[in-house]
Amino acid sequence: MQLKDLSISSIHTSLLKKEYSAVELTTQTLHAIKEKDSEYGAYLHVMNEDALKSAQEIDLTIARNDDLPLLGGIPFALKDNILVVNHPATAGSKILKDYRASYDATAVRKLKSAGAVIIGKTNMDEFAMGSSGENSAFFSAKNPHDVTRVPGGSSSGSAVAVTLGEAVCALGSETGGSVRQPASFCGLVGLKPTYGAISRYGLIAMASSLDQIAPFARTTMDVALAFEAISGYDSLDGTSKKDFKFHAKEVKDFSLDALCGLTIGLPKEYFIPGITKETQKEIDSAIATLKSFKVKFKEISLPHTEYALSCYYIIMPAEVSSNLARFDGIRYGTRGGSAPLGEMYQRNRGEGFGKEPKRRILLGNYVLSAGYYDAYYLQAQKVRSLITEDFTKAFKSVDVILTPTTPTQAFKFGEKMKDPLSMYLSDIFTVPVNLAGLPALSFPSRSARKLGGALPVGVQLIGKHFDEATLLGVSKWYEESISVS
Ligand code: GLN
Repeated sequence: MQLKDLSISSIHTSLLKKEYSAVELTTQTLHAIKEKDSEYGAYLHVMNEDALKSAQEIDLTIARNDDLPLLGGIPFALKDNILVVNHPATAGSKILKDYRASYDATAVRKLKSAGAVIIGKTNMDEFAMGSSGENSAFFSAKNPHDVTRVPGGSSSGSAVAVTLGEAVCALGSETGGSVRQPASFCGLVGLKPTYGAISRYGLIAMASSLDQIAPFARTTMDVALAFEAISGYDSLDGTSKKDFKFHAKEVKDFSLDALCGLTIGLPKEYFIPGITKETQKEIDSAIATLKSFKVKFKEISLPHTEYALSCYYIIMPAEVSSNLARFDGIRYGTRGGSAPLGEMYQRNRGEGFGKEPKRRILLGNYVLSAGYYDAYYLQAQKVRSLITEDFTKAFKSVDVILTPTTPTQAFKFGEKMKDPLSMYLSDIFTVPVNLAGLPALSFPSRSARKLGGALPVGVQLIGKHFDEATLLGVSKWYEESISVS
């Protein structure tokens, strides 16, 4: 069995036909991690025993001829800021290196009850702050397409694990692009769901008005199935949407007629000189493919796009500074010595946090401080409304918006580490979506879907609130059309 080529439905069929067992699949996946992961650094923690135990249960289900759920036996990787009871959740930070979760995140509970096999916890930028994986307090994950390049971030390890076949699907988290950007750099499908579509209960918070758990996979249908399993209302998350339930069948049934009837908007503010030639070429080719299906395209304008990054870098650190206040080394994680209290806080936080969280905590405290609050935070909230309104207006004349996911392909290690601003700029096309709470998906363009080919380029589709089905539908048609041509 070629782990990199497996999909949820192919595994389901093989398990039912007894071509291999869930234990064999899990063992092979664990073996692949043992073989390759010291080079690629996708995992921080592998759950050998628990994974094999879940696989045994699935095999018993099959042996009893009981109904096998679609996700039964499917190897999943989880970003290390998503809680799994009794297992570490470091969020990529030294301050949480000794922490063990005392409960399952709702998304994890749902995956477990759908029969998924949780393989392990994946590497990430510290507290999900970063766009390259280089801010992990432990080690950097490497891009399987070119190990001298970053896999993107902050969900770096989740993207690498799925690309290598060390998991079939993975969950990451999105605050400003942390699933779409690594999906784009690694050649995967990554879906940032509408704010409120997936419960964040058990996700270590970064910036709560922006955060969402988000799935990665190698195919659109696998992303749809993972999203189906973990989405839906949860009373434990006050921002969870009451009557939303996503059905992967909507994607399966998304017809050619539905596709032909779409008008896709191309926002002129996203097609800027900073986009590399290769990226532009791949985006043009994706547009041409969709046009061959008679999809209509229309130029649109999202005039406040240029303020999105500045707005994000005020709102996000403000929320970070408040969310990260709880990590004092007393309730969670490492306690560095004893009294006096003030000194202990200083030492725990000083030694426990890396550079990037410190930078953002300082920024956040500054923009929230008396005298500056109105000038920065309040102003940024107003700009956020304008950015959201831009999208609302655009969606009056188009159904979906298409842009590059990132201006460039995966960059080299070290290239942007000395200049945080240039790192922040790699999120320029993803951040506006989080500010507006919209769903968006990144799918790989034609020429870089397989390892060993060119460096991947991601195409981003942005949709109306809770219209994930259309985004996944378009991506599915694109994927099918290029696999036959
Ligand atoms: N790269 C962005 C940042 O560093 C987004 C992070 C994320 O989505 N978690 O803030």
